[in-house]
Amino acid sequence: MEPIVIIGTGLAGYNLAKEIRKLDKAIPLRLITADGGESYSKPMLSNALAKGKSAGQLVLSTAEQMAAQLTAAIHTHTTAEAIEAHSKMLVTTSGEFPYSKLVLATGAEQIKPPLQGNAVNDVFSVNDLDDYARFRQALNSARHVGIIGPGLIGCEFANDLISAHKQVTVIGPSATPLDRLIPPMVGELLMRELQKAGVQWRPGVMATAVNKLNSRFQISLSDESQLEVDLVLSAVGLRPKLALARNAGLTVSRGIVVDRQLQTSQTDIYALGDCIEVQGLVLPYVLPLMNAARTLAKTLTGNPTPIVYPAMPVVVKTPAHPLVVSPPAAGSEGEWEIDLQDTGARALFRGSDGSLLGFVLTGDKVEEKAMLSKELPPVLK
Ligand SMILES: Cc1cc2nc3c(=O)[nH]c(=O)nc-3n(C[C@H](O)[C@H](O)[C@H](O)COP(=O)(O)OP(=O)(O)OC[C@H]3O[C@@H](n4cnc5c(N)ncnc54)[C@H](O)[C@@H]3O)c2cc1C
Repeated sequence: MEPIVIIGTGLAGYNLAKEIRKLDKAIPLRLITADGGESYSKPMLSNALAKGKSAGQLVLSTAEQMAAQLTAAIHTHTTAEAIEAHSKMLVTTSGEFPYSKLVLATGAEQIKPPLQGNAVNDVFSVNDLDDYARFRQALNSARHVGIIGPGLIGCEFANDLISAHKQVTVIGPSATPLDRLIPPMVGELLMRELQKAGVQWRPGVMATAVNKLNSRFQISLSDESQLEVDLVLSAVGLRPKLALARNAGLTVSRGIVVDRQLQTSQTDIYALGDCIEVQGLVLPYVLPLMNAARTLAKTLTGNPTPIVYPAMPVVVKTPAHPLVVSPPAAGSEGEWEIDLQDTGARALFRGSDGSLLGFVLTGDKVEEKAMLSKELPPVLK
């Protein structure tokens, strides 16, 4: 029997393999990964500085240890280049591998902001262990870091860098941080609290260029002003990796389109994790991929099971002002009810019938998460 082949050893690929092994000890498994195959928790990348962790210290298991634990073949530093669906063959930089079922767990890639200047290639982004190792190395000689992007990952890095005694300026076009996830009033509170911790903000402006200036960098802003920093970190967002799927003729939209059983438009090719779009939803977080891994493991071991998503609040790792958010579904009709105190905010998004459709909790209100989560509707029934 040909193996199940999984492309990707991020949280999605490895969790799927673990879930398969819980259900079937014998089914042959092969994992292919472009990176070193280390098992690690990616969310740690944006709070590891405060904990003083190097890239090496974030590694939970090596690829060899994972291969033994999963009774699987793991091919590291191997890029999947093409899928020949008719002959069920995966073409990689280390040769061709036949599969019974193929799973794409290829994750997401950083969106590059449209920047001009002679130092565009010196702008850092952190989306994997190798990126983090390079970033940490460069930080040794940096005092002031400019972060482009006041979203979830930008805010987390801002807080983490402050904890590591760096000077931080966050640049972004919106008036308040996390503007796609939380109402502006709550964003203002977060901004104020992070400012108290030391974060400087440049809201309402775009970074337009990055140029070298002696040993420093000059960021040009859309209001014609300049900012001088020692290091530039881009955190403008991620988008699903689509090239492999697209070239294989699989249906792609914002993500690789999968049905409720996580099957792509091609029989026997499945996908999960940051790379997928299911029922119009692209959810690049850990809880959705853990749900998907449990569900897909059942399907791949002979028990076809549709994915169900409960409410899955996202914890934003800003210890200077903790925040948890469960955004209402896109297009939901309703209004925010906001209770704003100096110590924290409770913002509840209620539908016209009064039902709770989403929430944001910050500061001392985050402890209401468990109670409020029970009231939320499932993300995917
Ligand atoms: C800094 C940061 C902080 C985060 N914090 C949180 C948080 O607090 N909470 C939360 O829920 N989520 C958080 N997230 C999101 C979460 O980490 C991701 O949802 C999750 O790690 C995605 O896992 P994945 O396996 O789908 O993708 P990835 O981890 O990106 O793994 C993709 C894998 O595919 C491989 N690959 C890709 N293309 C190929 C190819 N062609 N051939 C071979 N291999 C290939 C890669 O080498 C890699 O092994 C954070 C993300 C970042 C970047």
